[in-house]
Formats: sequence, structure tokens, C-alpha cells
Amino acid sequence: MKFQKGTRRRAKEYEKDLVQYWKDNKIFEKSVESRPADNAYVFYDGPPFITGVPHHGTLLSSIVKDAVPRYWTMKGKRVERVWGWDCHGLPAEVFTEKKLGITDKRDIGTKISLEEYIKTCRDNMVQTGNLWNDTIARIGRWVDMDKAYSTMDKEYMESIWWAFKTLYEKGKIYEGEKVLMYCTRDATPLSKAEVTMDAGAYQDVTDPSVFVKFKLAGSDSFLLAWTTTPWTLPSNTAVAVNREFTYAEVEVGGQKLILAEDLVAKVLTDEKHQPLEYTVLRTLRGEELVGQSYEPLFDSPAGGRGENAHKVWHADYVSLESGTGLVHLSPAYGEEDFALAKEHNVPVVSNIDENGFYTSGDWKGEQVWDINKTIAKQLLERGVVFKIEYIRHSYPHCHRCGTKLMYRAHPSWFMDIDGQREQMLEQNSEGINWFPEHVKHGRFEKNMAAAPDWNISRDRFWATAMPVWKGTDAEGNTHVKVIGSYAELKELSGVELEDYHRPWIDDVTFTIDGVEYRRIEKVLDGWFESGSMPFAQFHYPFENVEKFEANFPGDFIAEYIGQVRAWFYYLHAINVGLFGKNAFKNVIVTGTLAGNDGRKMSKSYGNYTDPNELMDLYSADSLRFLLLQSPLLNGEDFSLIDKDVGDVARKLSMIWNMYDFFTLYAEVDGWEFNGDISDPSSELTNPLDVWVVSRVHQLTATVDEHMQRYDIPNATKPMLEFIEDASNWFVRRSRKRFWKSDNDGDKRDAYRTLHYVLVQLSQVMAPFT
Ligand SMILES: [Zn+2]
Repeated sequence: MKFQKGTRRRAKEYEKDLVQYWKDNKIFEKSVESRPADNAYVFYDGPPFITGVPHHGTLLSSIVKDAVPRYWTMKGKRVERVWGWDCHGLPAEVFTEKKLGITDKRDIGTKISLEEYIKTCRDNMVQTGNLWNDTIARIGRWVDMDKAYSTMDKEYMESIWWAFKTLYEKGKIYEGEKVLMYCTRDATPLSKAEVTMDAGAYQDVTDPSVFVKFKLAGSDSFLLAWTTTPWTLPSNTAVAVNREFTYAEVEVGGQKLILAEDLVAKVLTDEKHQPLEYTVLRTLRGEELVGQSYEPLFDSPAGGRGENAHKVWHADYVSLESGTGLVHLSPAYGEEDFALAKEHNVPVVSNIDENGFYTSGDWKGEQVWDINKTIAKQLLERGVVFKIEYIRHSYPHCHRCGTKLMYRAHPSWFMDIDGQREQMLEQNSEGINWFPEHVKHGRFEKNMAAAPDWNISRDRFWATAMPVWKGTDAEGNTHVKVIGSYAELKELSGVELEDYHRPWIDDVTFTIDGVEYRRIEKVLDGWFESGSMPFAQFHYPFENVEKFEANFPGDFIAEYIGQVRAWFYYLHAINVGLFGKNAFKNVIVTGTLAGNDGRKMSKSYGNYTDPNELMDLYSADSLRFLLLQSPLLNGEDFSLIDKDVGDVARKLSMIWNMYDFFTLYAEVDGWEFNGDISDPSSELTNPLDVWVVSRVHQLTATVDEHMQRYDIPNATKPMLEFIEDASNWFVRRSRKRFWKSDNDGDKRDAYRTLHYVLVQLSQVMAPFT
């Protein structure tokens, strides 16, 4: 093989051509097929939400998901890479609602038919998916997007049913009522993990902090309780104190109030925070208050009365940190309140509909967030409230639509995490290699150790329908039938559907022993679907049983740090639940990519350049390399600055400078490559040759060592150092050897060495650039 000078090409030109060449010649497919099926390296692609276009964050994951499989392919492994789409759930629905101009869940099924809504959801998902192919190809990622699995596929959804039924039969799924974070705009509960996945869900808001008076029965004294949620006062059914505390009965402004002794001076101030005059009448133990009754603030709606309503209870969580040492309880709208109510059989009053409107009482028809401050003021005017202050505090908001979340008791379906917690912890400790390592016993383990049972049901439309049918017999007993396949449903109902989404699935009913069964309206949490991808992508266990079993657990997954509490966690929970095993063996957790000003990348801040523009300006390789050797791959955050991409591009171009030098003289001297790429070390005599060849071997060994541990920053770091050494020392010092006129052994060695080094370097860098 002869060489020609001046054959260097600009990255901008050759990258796009190379992508086309790969495509035309099916190079990716060949790289997979040419390796034996029994030597597989299994990569699981976490499905991105299909909504929106690829941004730098998704490209970062894609770059990592390309580099690692390429490395293992070069080690001889067969690495199948199939893309996935997460098409269901609230993100998809909010996206569709925006397109349709829907702002209220109640419009679905009224203003627009559910059928039309679902069709629109599906169409949107298909259209958006097409936007991705070019950008993913442009960054040089090898992945099969044509055979992409999608969570809305009929087969995928059937595997979800199978998983649901299997877990249900193992006793790991149950129906219950718990207080959950709830979005009134989207009218569905959310799981804490999805809300806290990204920073920004907790926002500082100002809320009225209300000191409310409950009149003790048979007394002229008032219990002074404190709350920052006046909207929950109409559903008050209890007050909690701490029996260990000392309380004081004080006279202030002609009224008698009871509150914790230690908080008297702090609480008894006027609007200007000036102390009020008061007299302590007596002190008493909290214990003495427990069991006493008080008069309800309102004519409570039905269900708010009864033996245990409107009494004082002890609760350990009542503290002296803030407030009055007495806490107002609204069991339907507070987690601790609900637990106490269940324990003591205190009535639970629900007076707010699924969209956040009062269904009864003084504020019937009003929206809780709109009326919250007004309630406080009106109660102050009525003399029920002692005083109002305003506090700034951090409060959760819906991660999808930004609405303030409420906590509310909601009948839902749960996956029992508590029952398999030990096994999940053990499988993580024993079976998963994390990079960076601290996540393993840090964020991942801590999250798992504290995770509540997982609320897997959603009161929405566009997702896999929960395969649960219920019927009531003549005696009024409820029967539950969980279905695990389309065939099973057909056997019972005689119905086979083209599409198993709502609303069509809702019409399927069947009768067993004279009892008619109808499906409950709920759908599954999208994380239940994406967490099922290891088996659902293969339509397991209906198809590909051997393939799945040979490919589980997966060797590698990668996502950004927000997924530690989300996809990584759910993947682990479902698969430990089903198979008793961790779903993945190695995981890379990246940090979050920030804009050039350190803030979150945002169009409105204008703090980043579009990835396609950036790649056209500098090259996809330099963007890839910059990100791969950045702190992002250590799980830390990193600001993307265009100039840094340019700097990397310049450093990488030193390879081309060496190539130019090589081809220039190789052409002059007619040096030919004879096909021998074996290690020349033993035949080399010039110390420069010996040195640079040993350096490139050292580089290969270092990269290898770090890649085995998934340490990409340390694998990539020595590459630029080597390029500098090779260019500034070897080439510079060897120049004269190429210039001299005789074609002696030293010159031949110089050619052979430089050629060998360039080939080795290209190979070692191939997964990354
Ligand atoms: Zn919302």
C-alpha cells in the first residue's frame, strides 16, 4: 500500500461521509454479526422519553452508550444495540395536551373523545421519533433504531401484563390507600422518586402560616394549633400534641389559649412581631390533653363525625421546632395525619375532587390553591384564627406541569418494596459495579433503604392499562381477576383487540361464576414499563425465552445521575421482584451537563449552542472526546463551553499533523506498507523508536485497564498526553531521519515505527472518537 501526501480531510467533511459509508455498507451490522452469539456483551438501552428533540443531555448518554459497546466490540464481543422509546405516561400526555390545547383533564372524554385523544398521543409519538435518527447518527453512535422497541408496542405491553400478574401472584403487588404526592392539574398521584428526580421540583413559595383556635369541649379555653396549609382546615378531624411536653394555658387579649410552654413568648406577638402581654394561668403535661375533645371548626361533612373525631392524640413527631406544639390533622391530606387516623380509627374527610376543587362546605367549587390565602383571611375575620404569618418554604411542584403538589389519600396500587428491600440491597452490594463507585453505597443504596412501597397506578389514559378486572357478587363481595396475557383475556371474554390501550380495553368485560368483571380504570406508571425493558423488549415470556435468559442480567447501562432514583431504581426493583436478581452488572452514572454559564441548559437562557451546529463547527469527535474525558463521567456536573470543544479539536488535529508528515515523506520515498502490523519492538534499535512504541503499548494497557473498570475519564486522560509526546518528541526529534537521502535501515525503522504508532493510536481511540 502506497501513501499520498495531502490526503488529510477536515472533520466536517469526512464525518458525515463516514456516517453515510457506515450506513451504505452496513458496517455496524457487520460488527455485530461477525462476532459469535455465544460471546455476547449485553447492553440495555434505557428508553428516552420520545417527547421533544435530542438535546446535549441525551447526546451525552448516547456518546457513553456508544463508546463502551465499541470498546467491547473491539475486544471481540458481540454487542447488540437496540434503541428504545419511552412513549407512555404523563410526559407524553402533557405533550399531547399542549398540542391539542387541553388544560384540564376533564376535557378528555368530553371536549375530545378518549379515542381521538389516544390516537393523537400515538401519532405524536411516531412523528417525534423520526426527529432523532439524524442527530444520533451525526454523533457517530452505532445503534439499531429501525428495530427500536417502544413501550407502546402491543407485544411490549403484553410482557408488562405478564410482569404485573407474576408480581401480583407472588404477593408483591397490592391495592391500598396511602397519602401520595398528587398533581391536581394532571389529576393523578405521582411517585416521590419521579418528582425528586431532577432539581427544581422543590421551589420556594410563600404560604400563610396560620395559628388556629380549637375550642376545648366544656371549657372556655382554646387549643392553639399551627398549620401552613389552611386549605386542609375544613377536613380537620384531629389535633396532635406530644405527651412529653409541658403546655401552658395563658390569657391573652381576653382569651384563653393552650400551647407549648417553651413557645409561648415566640408565638404571642402581634403582626409587627411585638410581644403581646399575657398571663400564664397554669401549666399542664401533654398527657393531660390527650383524649380531650374539641369543637369542630365547621359543620363538617358526612364522615367527619363519630366517636374518634375531633379529639387530641399523642404523636411523636410533634416537635418544638416551630409552631405551637399542637398540630392540626387532616388525615386525607397529610402522610403522618393519615397514619395516625388509621391507627386510631379517626374519620378521614375527603372534600376535594380530583382536580383540586372543594366538593362541599364553605368554599364548595373553589380551587384549593386559588383560595388558600383567602381561607386564612376569612378564618381570621371569623375569630377562628389567632393570627396569620407568612413563611417562605420549599414546597414540591409537579415536575411535568409545574403545579403545586398536594398530599392526598388516594386509592392506588403498590409494589411491595419493603418486602424485598433486603434482597435489593444485597443484589446491589454483590452484583453491581458502579462508576463512580460512591453511588453504589451512596445515593443508590440510601434511596433504596428509605424507599416507600411504589405507587404503580396512575389515573390517566395513555399508558399500559392495568390488567385488573373487578366484579361484585350477589352478596356484595368484590372479586379481583388479574390477567397476564392477551390469550387469557380472550379465553375469558372472547375478545381480541387490535389495540389494548384505553378506551378499547375498558369495554372488555367477562363473567365468571355469574359475576361480571369490569376493568378498573387505572393505567400503569411509565417507570413500570421502562423498568421492564430487559424482558419486555423481547416480548418475553411469549417469545425469545432463550434469548432473554441468555442475556440477563445485562452487562452495561448508562444514564445521568437523575436516573439513580428513577430508571436504575425501578429497573432494579422490578427485576429483583420477578427474577430475584439485579438487572445490570455495570453502570456508568454521568453528571449533568450545564450551559456555558453553569446554569441548566435552557433555550430561554441562550446558554448553549445547538449540538448539530457545534459538531459542524468543530467535529463530532471533539465533542465526544471533550465530554468523555470531562468530570461528567465521574458523575459530576460540567459546563459545556464551545471554546473547550475547539481546544479539543485542535489537540486531536495533532494526529492529523503526524499523518500529514508521514504521508508527505512516504510519498517522496515511496515507502510502502507491507501489511505487517505486528509489534516491531524486538527489531528496533533507535532509542526514539523503542521509546515511542513502548509509550503506545503503555497507553493501550492503561486504557484497557481503566475500561475494564468503566473508568472513562482515566482511560481517556493519557491519550492527549501521548499525542503530545508522539508529536512533540518523536516526530520532531525524528525529522532528520526522514529527510536524509539514503534509504537506510534507520529510515525504514522510522517509517515502520510512525506507521505502527498511528495505527495503534487510531485503534485505541476508536471507541471514543
Ligand atoms: Zn402536573
